[in-house]
Amino acid sequence: MFLRTLGEDIANFTKNSSQNFVDELNMLQIWDQPLVGVAGASDPLWEKMKDPHVVGPDHLTPKEWLPDAKSVISYFLPFTEHIRNSNRLHGKPSTEWLYGRYEGEMFNNSLRRLIIGLIEADGGTAMAPALDKRFVITDLQSNWSERHVAFIAGLGTFGLSRSLITPLGTAGRFGSVIVDWELETKPRPYKEFDDYCSKCGKCIGRCPCGAITESGKDNESCSQYLFNILELNKPRYACGKCQTAVPCEYKMP
Ligand code: SF4
Ligand code: SF4
Repeated sequence: MFLRTLGEDIANFTKNSSQNFVDELNMLQIWDQPLVGVAGASDPLWEKMKDPHVVGPDHLTPKEWLPDAKSVISYFLPFTEHIRNSNRLHGKPSTEWLYGRYEGEMFNNSLRRLIIGLIEADGGTAMAPALDKRFVITDLQSNWSERHVAFIAGLGTFGLSRSLITPLGTAGRFGSVIVDWELETKPRPYKEFDDYCSKCGKCIGRCPCGAITESGKDNESCSQYLFNILELNKPRYACGKCQTAVPCEYKMP
């Protein structure tokens, strides 16, 4: 019941929030309606995230963020067609994509706060690691990876580009909230970490700095490229070429 009304509240917020529209770009809409999933806080995969080959030992489990954690609400915000379309050319990221990534994350933070507020109004306790002062990104890894959370919540699997491929594709952003309520979870509709990737290799040719190869993505090259983009576009930075003009842009290939 809570999840159904939560879905409606998220849908209304996405439709009506002024933060989902960019004033400077002719009221460009950033996000389409999100996908929402739930992971159990006791799922054995949380411990697996600490493996250095997955995320790393600093990745915290839901109970390390919130001792009474029972569930994690995870969602995928897909970019609108206009933003995806603007970024399909090769080379530098489009202006629309840069705004979508930067202003879109402000919307994402407000959505996290909205979900926390709804849970607290119903007597629960909730928190979003991305808004917590303990949240850090060191050595190209964070202590809470929204993509890995979404994988555990059944929203999608990884691609060669290390984007998460959801039923609505890869072009978008993720968010999550940890709650001390037991919410209904569904079995993950996949077995392997990369089930939804067709291995077509189209993302390899899309990367402007050659960070993607047949064996995966070199995070360091990607980060250096993004740093260069930041220098040119402060405070905005983004790329997303490997998420656009590829078969997994807006669907599972
Ligand atoms: S473009 Fe092809 S190889 Fe790359 S992540 Fe998407 S489906 Fe996988
Ligand atoms: S975000 Fe850009 S630089 Fe990074 S892997 Fe994708 S295409 Fe390459």
